[in-house]
Formats: sequence, C-alpha cells, structure tokens
Amino acid sequence: MTGTVSLVGSGPGDPELLTVKAKRLLDDADVVLHDKLPGPEILDMIPEEKREDVGKRAGGEWTPQEYTNRRMVELAEEDKDVVRLKGGDPTVFGRGGEELVHLAENGIPVEVVPGITSAVAGPAVAGIPVTHRDHASSVSFVTGHEDPTKEESAVDWDALAATGGTIVVLMGVGKLPDYTTALREAGMDPDTPVALVERATWPGQQVATGTLDTIVDVRDEAGIEPPAITVIGEVAGQRDRVIEFLRTDYGEASDESRADGGDDDA
Ligand code: SAH
Repeated sequence: MTGTVSLVGSGPGDPELLTVKAKRLLDDADVVLHDKLPGPEILDMIPEEKREDVGKRAGGEWTPQEYTNRRMVELAEEDKDVVRLKGGDPTVFGRGGEELVHLAENGIPVEVVPGITSAVAGPAVAGIPVTHRDHASSVSFVTGHEDPTKEESAVDWDALAATGGTIVVLMGVGKLPDYTTALREAGMDPDTPVALVERATWPGQQVATGTLDTIVDVRDEAGIEPPAITVIGEVAGQRDRVIEFLRTDYGEASDESRADGGDDDA
C-alpha cells in the first residue's frame, strides 16, 4: 500500500485565498510538510501534530532538499496521505517541479494542486494589475536571488529592459540595487514606477512605491524585508490612481509579525 503526496499551493497567505481543494486536502492529510511561506494564519489552521516544518531550522540552517524528498517518499510508503504545502503556487519558484519528478521516479502517486501565486496576487492586492491594455501586454516572472553581474546570469536583464512589459521579481529584496542598476544600464527609463509588496495578504502586509531610481532608498526607509514582490513597469503607477479607495483586510506590520519573514530564498 502507498499513500499519496499532494503538492499543494497555499496561495499568498490569506486563508480565504486557499482553494477549496487545498482546504479539503489539508483537513484530510495525515502529515503536512511545509516551510514558513504559506504564512502564519494558514499554518495556524493546521493541527500541530500534523505539521512538519521543512523550512528554516533554528540557527538559520535550511532543511536540505534531499531530506524533504526522502521524507515525502518515506511517509507515502508508510501509507500516509501527505500534503507538501508550498506558498503561492507550488510550481512557481518553489522546487515543485523537482519534487514532482522525484516522487514519480520513486513510484509515489502524486497530485499537483495549483495555488494563487504571490507573483500575481501580491501586485493585485496592492492595486497593481500585472498586465494592462494601455501599459503592459506581457509580464515576466524572474528570480532576483542571483547576482546580475555574474557571467552566466540566468536572467537576461538587458532583454527584459527591452520588452516594455511588466517585470515581477520574486526573491528580490536583497539584490534590488543590483538588478535596478542592471535595468537602468540596459536603457530602462529611471522614472519607471516600481512597487514593493511585502507579505502580501498576511496580517502585516506593507507596500512601498518609488521609481527605478528611488526604490532602493524607499526599501530602506520603509524597512521592506522578505518575503516581498518587486513590480517594475508602468502598471506599478496604477496604484496611485486607486489607493484612496483601495480596501484590504491586511493591517500594518507590528514588530511581532515581522519576526518570521524569512529570507529571499524562502
Ligand atoms: N511559489 C511561490 C514563490 C516561492 S519563491 C509563489 O507562487 O508565490 C519565494 C518568493 O515568493 C519570496 O521571496 C517572495 O518574493 C515571494 N512571495 C511568496 N509569498 C509572498 C507574499 N505573501 N508576499 C510577498 N511575496 C511573497
């Protein structure tokens, strides 16, 4: 007998943005393997005895991916129904693809349950549509985690600057100075609007806006920390047009809720 593994996206953090299917699988699971990215409110819904944290350990060390892979297989072979819960959508910068292949190669029945990715939801709740008929007919999702000056950068910032579409950067708080510089050097207008959305839909959501030129100072003044989304492009300017009437359920940060933000590679 073999249990199943469901690779489940939690959405950006608000429990009301879980899919109906994610909620059912969480309720029915024997074990939920998670990191911190699903956010405090969703993790609080899961009974302690079902939860296994495979994110950052005390002392700042990451649980090795090999451990998580091995643990999923082990639990399924013990006939457990496992939810591997990931922030946003499990296949967007979340190693979901790698885990899927690992499970299949080990003969474990596996299901992928899409979630609302923070790459779209983060901008959206801040009043920023990632595409717009007048401003952006394409959107690129990129990682900011790597060094844009390294020789074989996986992200071609020059090409991105030339597309004229929206650029959404995940894991991009720390390297913000590097890639905003790379985009300016590639000829992008320094006045291009940029927004940072920290902990989108979590209780302490924070949004800060500026331009390609000012956003690093804005980040520092506002104290923006991971996890956050960077939105670069004309669409980021849309927020100003709606801000007065934009309602969200998500309050301002308290010191306490800031504690577990994680790192850019979270
Ligand atoms: N699979 C996730 C992304 C994982 S990569 C998804 O689809 O959303 C981790 C990065 O996601 C973080 O560094 C941050 O850039 C972004 N992220 C995830 N949840 C977020 C949230 N609630 N608010 C802002 N950024 C978030």
